[in-house]
Amino acid sequence: MLADGRLSTGHAGVLLAERRGSYPLIDLHILNTSAQQGEVESCTRRKVKRLLSFQRYCHASRLLRGLVPHTPGSLHLLDDDYLGQAGHMLSKVSAWNFDIFLFDRLTNGNSLVTLMCHLFNVYGLIHHFQLDMVKLHRFLGMVQEDYHSQNPYHNAVHAADVTQAMYCYLKEPKLAGQLSPLDVFLGLMAAAAHDVDHPGVNQPFLIKTRHHLASLYQNTSVLESHHWRSTVGMLRESGLLSHLPADMSQDIEQQLGSLILATDISRQNEFLLTFREHLDNQDLDLQLASHRHFILQIALKCADVCNPCRVWELSRQWSERVCEEFYRQGDLEKKFDLEISPLCNQQADTVPAIQTGFISYIVEPLFEEWQRFTEPSLLSQTMMGHLHKNKARWSRAKRRSAGWDCGLGWCYMSPSAGDEHC
Ligand SMILES: [Zn+2]
Repeated sequence: MLADGRLSTGHAGVLLAERRGSYPLIDLHILNTSAQQGEVESCTRRKVKRLLSFQRYCHASRLLRGLVPHTPGSLHLLDDDYLGQAGHMLSKVSAWNFDIFLFDRLTNGNSLVTLMCHLFNVYGLIHHFQLDMVKLHRFLGMVQEDYHSQNPYHNAVHAADVTQAMYCYLKEPKLAGQLSPLDVFLGLMAAAAHDVDHPGVNQPFLIKTRHHLASLYQNTSVLESHHWRSTVGMLRESGLLSHLPADMSQDIEQQLGSLILATDISRQNEFLLTFREHLDNQDLDLQLASHRHFILQIALKCADVCNPCRVWELSRQWSERVCEEFYRQGDLEKKFDLEISPLCNQQADTVPAIQTGFISYIVEPLFEEWQRFTEPSLLSQTMMGHLHKNKARWSRAKRRSAGWDCGLGWCYMSPSAGDEHC
């Protein structure tokens, strides 16, 4: 790192990779004393949470031991009803209606570690890369732990959800036969770690509060750069890749960076236009590692924003969670006399309005191209079906919340009530 804050070696400058860098949330200059006190208390709570989480992790690791491929009979080792049910859920992990919230409850908050270990076993990645199980558990435990469970949306359950979606995309017939073990490893790792240590506020917030991460990354892809560098820090701390040749582990770190940085929503158009161009020209050649990497970037972007393509009951929960996180940022901005960011004003920005905009401008254009790429794909058809239904549902709710006359009188039904009478 240079004195002026620039990375010393461009994107390769990950040697000083850090963990837990997203705190303090707000530059202490603009905080009052009581808020500083809150930060200290939250640090103590975090330490206690770490201990409790370790206990949870030890508990759930029994599930991991019971789940090795080719030995389905080993499930009988599970002596706990919940873990037995979680094991049963894993046998249907490629189903698009997989309920990650239920899975997280059944694994006692260890959905990300449990899911990743299972998928690594399914793909034989532990054997292929000669991974040390202890180091793998240590790494995954660190990743899961460094997600902030107090974030309504950007927490380890979101990471597990994105990983499960990524798994479904890796299994697409168009893709599955072309992917190398390294592609699969990178896809799953990037999905699991893509939001690690997310502070629960967006980049504009970090910039206007002069957060140290914003200056570190020069106000560009601030969060995504931090997620990547935190991941590299944990990879090195756990020693997961320490047995691999240096050029290979460096390549893995760089590719993880390129995948995680692709989730920056401000780069959406850049990726969408390139994707569209490839599809129009029909020039994607999945024999080429660079083209497969591009498709992995797109697949991760799709997995990251696939909430509106899920069945309504799951989709609705994610929608409410992400809006709750926006509103919390808005409340924080109000508290510190900062301008309230777009979508963060609970009074002005309703959940249905936020969701219809998100679907129309971000999700629908991306998934239309993904469907073109994957066709014929049953999964893409299913996702588009949910997307259109969910969009119509939020649109109806938006009209209702605006006091739209539904014909049965003025209606202000809560969109989450699921009332269909309009
Ligand atoms: Zn995400």
